[in-house]
This record gives sequence, structure tokens and C-alpha cells, in this order.
Amino acid sequence: MIDAERRPALEAIAAEVRVCTKCRLHETRIQAVPGEGDPETEVVFVGEGPGFNEDRQGRPFIGRAGDLLVKLLASIGWRREDVFITNVVKCRPPDNRDPQPDEIAACAPYLRRQLEVLDPAVVVTLGRFSMATFMPGARISQAHGTVRPVDPATGAGSALVFAMYHPAAALRTPAIERESYADVAMVPSALIDARGRRGDVAVAVQAADPAAPPAILEPALTADAEPTLTTEGEPGSMMPTSADDPAPQLTLF
Ligand code: URA
Ligand code: SF4
Repeated sequence: MIDAERRPALEAIAAEVRVCTKCRLHETRIQAVPGEGDPETEVVFVGEGPGFNEDRQGRPFIGRAGDLLVKLLASIGWRREDVFITNVVKCRPPDNRDPQPDEIAACAPYLRRQLEVLDPAVVVTLGRFSMATFMPGARISQAHGTVRPVDPATGAGSALVFAMYHPAAALRTPAIERESYADVAMVPSALIDARGRRGDVAVAVQAADPAAPPAILEPALTADAEPTLTTEGEPGSMMPTSADDPAPQLTLF
């Protein structure tokens, strides 16, 4: 999908989510929360489900957990508008209870379709329920701060998944908050790994079919960030990806 097609495709999914009645969570929601962010981003953050504030405003991660997520992103020089933020279930579970398996299953096609449109390089999971979608069988105490390839059935077929604790858990437990800052500090290198992998895949495709057009790599994550963050490269320029020359990819971090 070309970049110009992503925004309308995401808006079409969001419109369906806002009127969805596929599971019981629609009965108690005020507003569904489809997710938001940069349609051309390379990084998607996936939480659990909307809370009290999100349900009122129809936007993800805008309460206290969202404030911490913004601080975590700021610690690596990123803004929430640079990434895409969504949840496993798009409607608030009553009293913020855990989403139930049938609710997660009913809502899963929306997340899968969002990921197919976004085609991210990295999916960052926030908390156990999101991790279970992308790293089945993993335990968060061991898996946080680690990456794995993503099952293409999730919709994010060429992505790496990076697991983090849920920011709400970090708000409750200072040790988890500290671990969350340490974990998020590794996301930029996960992105560089993921770009390399996707570059490798494209090169492999080209080698198999010499008539194929050359691989076009993703634009850099923060191509439109403040110029002060950019030490080289044009805004919007294609970032070269090569395992033995990582420096150019670091310019935007
Ligand atoms: N917690 C989540 O998991 N998602 C939100 O959108 C807000 C809080
Ligand atoms: Fe539909 Fe998902 Fe909301 Fe359930 S949680 S009603 S499946 S949008």
C-alpha cells in the first residue's frame, strides 16, 4: 500500500470500530477507541484496552498511563504523534477489568487490519494481553525488553515485536517503571534491526527475481521531526539500511 492510501484505509477501519457491536463491550462503552497516530510510522504501540478517560474522549492512552507512555517516548526523543497507538480491544471493559478471550477474539480483526495497513517495522506490546497476541506463550517478566519476529497472521508480517510492561503496571510499581525506561531505551535499536531485516527480505526477493524493481526502504520514523533532531539526510529521504553501516540510521534518534 502506498502512503497516500494509508490514512483513508485507517479512517475506514476506525469508522467501523466506532459503530461495532461484535462483542458485549459495546453495551457499556461511551465511545470506541480505534487508535491514532502517524499513518506512515514504522512503530506501532499496542495496549490492552481503553480506560475511563479514553472511553470518554475516544482517544487511546490519554489518562495517567498515557502520560507515562508520553514520558517514556520522550526519553528516546520520540513524540506520540510519531508512532501509532492502539489497543487489543477497542472498547473499555467495565471497571477496567481484564478483556475476556471472546472479546479479544471478536476485536482482533480490527487490529490485524490496522497492522496490514500500517505494515510497521516494530510492534511494541504494552502489557500481557497485547504481548499474548504477538508473542504467544511468553511470560512478561522474562520477555519484556526482548524482540521476536511476528507471525504474519497478526497482520504485521514483516515486523519485529518488542515487549514492554503496561504503563499502568509501571505507575503502581517503581521497579517496573525503572525497567520500562530501560526497555524503551532499546526500541530504537530494535527498529534498526527491524529495518535491516526488512531490507534483507527485499534484497532476497530481488536476488530471487533479478527483474524485480530495487527495494525501496521505509522513510525514517521521524522524517518530519524538528530539524534539530536531524544531523544528516533530507526530511523524508529514504534511509539506507546496511548491517555494517548503522550510523546513518541513528541520525534521527
Ligand atoms: N490503557 C490501555 O491499555 N490503553 C489505553 O488506551 C489506555 C490505558
Ligand atoms: Fe467491537 Fe472491539 Fe468494541 Fe467489541 S471491543 S464492540 S469487537 S470494537
